[in-house]
Amino acid sequence: STVVHWFKGDLRLHDNRALHTAYQYAKEKQVPLVGLFIVSPEDWAAHSTSPARVDFTLRTLKRLQQDLGELDIPLHIETQEKRKAIPKRIVELCQQWGAKSLYANIEYEVDELRREAKLVRLCADNDINFNPTHDTCVVTPGALASQQGKQYAVYTPWYRSWLAFLKENPDYLEVSEEPGPNPGNARQQLQDLFDCKVPAAPKTHILSDEDQKRFEELYPAGEHEALERLDKFLEEKGKKYEEMRSMLPGEHTSVLSPYFACGALSARTAVVAAKTTNKGHLDRYDPGYMTWISELAWRDFYKHVLVNWPFICMNKCFKPEHTNIEWEYDKDQFQAWCDGKTGFPIVDAAMRQLRHCAWMHNRSRMVVSSFLTKDLMLDWRRGERYFMENLIDGDFASNHGGWGFGSSTGVDPQPYFRIFNPLRQSERFDPEGEYIRRWVPELRDVSGKAIHEPYARGAAAIAQKNGYPKPIVDHAKSRDRALERFKSALQKG
Ligand code: FAD
Repeated sequence: STVVHWFKGDLRLHDNRALHTAYQYAKEKQVPLVGLFIVSPEDWAAHSTSPARVDFTLRTLKRLQQDLGELDIPLHIETQEKRKAIPKRIVELCQQWGAKSLYANIEYEVDELRREAKLVRLCADNDINFNPTHDTCVVTPGALASQQGKQYAVYTPWYRSWLAFLKENPDYLEVSEEPGPNPGNARQQLQDLFDCKVPAAPKTHILSDEDQKRFEELYPAGEHEALERLDKFLEEKGKKYEEMRSMLPGEHTSVLSPYFACGALSARTAVVAAKTTNKGHLDRYDPGYMTWISELAWRDFYKHVLVNWPFICMNKCFKPEHTNIEWEYDKDQFQAWCDGKTGFPIVDAAMRQLRHCAWMHNRSRMVVSSFLTKDLMLDWRRGERYFMENLIDGDFASNHGGWGFGSSTGVDPQPYFRIFNPLRQSERFDPEGEYIRRWVPELRDVSGKAIHEPYARGAAAIAQKNGYPKPIVDHAKSRDRALERFKSALQKG
């Protein structure tokens, strides 16, 4: 018989828990191990996956297939037009390959859990041993609870508990070994599987040649690249991370999020590497590494939130009272935000960075999400979707969490009156205006502090000449409107 590992958001060999277990089992039984990946254009469309992320996934699959091939492990890739058909097709493939054991890492989003539940039933009916494994989070969702046994909805106490858990359970930081050569002779028994090619992107998700080339240069695919970037980041930037991470000019963060999103890099590996560099500590010694580890913990936190409150997958706010907020639906303002033409230089620079790089700095994500939902009072769900449609690192839990933070409709305990002032954010995190000048060419000739607010600070002539728009809203008035809207929603309860 054969052992199958179904790859999903875990496109790597190193530190992949289900793959490791599948390999150990195949080795024990001396039978072949086969990898499987199902391309689902319907899933990509339903989840608003960006063309950049689809392209990155397909490029990562190519690398994965090569790496597996070197171990004589085939990676069978096929497209299923109907996502509902996936569980049945997996069982058919297992039967075709004579497989009685199927391994996969769990994905926690509601659609994925439903699909897995169906697969569990079908496998049981067909005498296939299906082994779903927890892998994507460093600490398994559900493992942390307050003294009253409640799941945490606030990051800081949750983070304390996350740290304490890892100190008490060091095995959670054990990195799994990569598989070795295929224990069974797959080349002889399942030869056809080695001819399988990675398909092209579906018609709905095709990038222009120019974008594809740029993304290939910005984000070379594969786990080797991810591990190299991780080492380089820790060596060159980790120590300064706490001090520099919010500054917009230059590159002070790891830009590893695309690799985490498609699973080319495991969050556990990243935490372990940072801990090792930090002389074995998670939460003391060097503030740079400590802070970076705490950012990786945010990724876990939002996945835990998703598991505990799965209704957030249904376009819902975390707190029911926020359902009553009255949103605006002005199409022109939304388009101005998407195009980076709001007349707020910091917002426009960030939105243009997103369009060019399919990625945006965390501070910029906070600024533009606050601007969309507080200054423009546009529904946060529209911004959340636009991010998914454009980000190369689009991840449901982190994106929903980030939009909940920006729009004050999420788990964040801050009261709704924390409204970012785009001007102050710009002066603080891009003091010399380098970030703005890089992404908003219309303002390149504006010198000094006028860059933050050209029309009000004597640079109107340059801005106008170059076609840079005037601010589409007045921040102070918008702020009052947002406060009013939140107040009345909360009063309605
Ligand atoms: P680094 O600063 O190097 O941090 C390392 C890793 O820690 C990141 O790669 C990421 O996995 C994790 N991390 C850091 N900050 C956060 C955070 N605030 N929340 C969750 N994880 C974090 N991140 C995504 O991966 N996908 C998204 O779709 C996404 N959408 C967001 C939307 C909004 C409105 C906001 C405010 C944040 C969003 N984030 C998202 C979180 C964060 O902005 C990115 O993870 C980060 O900018 C990625 O850059 P980096 O890899 O250089 O991060």
